[in-house]
Amino acid sequence: MTCPVEHYRDPDRPRRTSDGYAICGGCLRGLQSDLAALPKLHEDLAQLHNAKRGTAQTKISGSMGARLPIAVSVADARKDLKDTLMAWAVHAHREASSAAVLHDSTASAARWLAVNADWAARQDWAPGLVTAIRYIRSRAVSLLDPRPCQRFPVPGRDGLCVREAEAGPCPGRLWVAIPASQEADSTITCDTCGQVYSAVQWMRLGHLIHARRTAAA
Ligand SMILES: [Zn+2]
Ligand SMILES: [Zn+2]
Repeated sequence: MTCPVEHYRDPDRPRRTSDGYAICGGCLRGLQSDLAALPKLHEDLAQLHNAKRGTAQTKISGSMGARLPIAVSVADARKDLKDTLMAWAVHAHREASSAAVLHDSTASAARWLAVNADWAARQDWAPGLVTAIRYIRSRAVSLLDPRPCQRFPVPGRDGLCVREAEAGPCPGRLWVAIPASQEADSTITCDTCGQVYSAVQWMRLGHLIHARRTAAA
């Protein structure tokens, strides 16, 4: 049998399932790793939510409309993580006719599912379980990840790269990237030469831009 779950890495390669299993070995290992990660992610989202609550939303001109307040997205992802995990734990618990007590916490639900993952991988609903658990993990990770979530070009002449290449000044345009996490710094990157400026370098760049303006006037 071929594993029916969508695989992100090398998606066109079919994965065989072992006898009696509804998913492939890679999906079972992925499920176990997701379940192990969920309780910590659930806590980290709570901390991120507390940090973001009451944060004023800065409207940046040139950006694509107003952002959904980050605290709302975080609270929603956190609720979805717990609800999804609990719903699958309850479902699996019933299917297994388990007499074990399933406590109402993400940690105990994740632990119970992890202990029974091999059995769950042999049930016809295993592909749905794998997909749902993978989704709540990746949603939490992407919110906790400080990768840039907003990019916009520096407007006007000030947005032209100031780097001097051998053939003359770089014709590229500068882009500002503001990370989702407030702990990470914003960066300014040229789309042509790839030069990345930190906030400190950006201040120095400001002087260069000012000098260029003064020279042009
Ligand atoms: Zn698979
Ligand atoms: Zn450049």
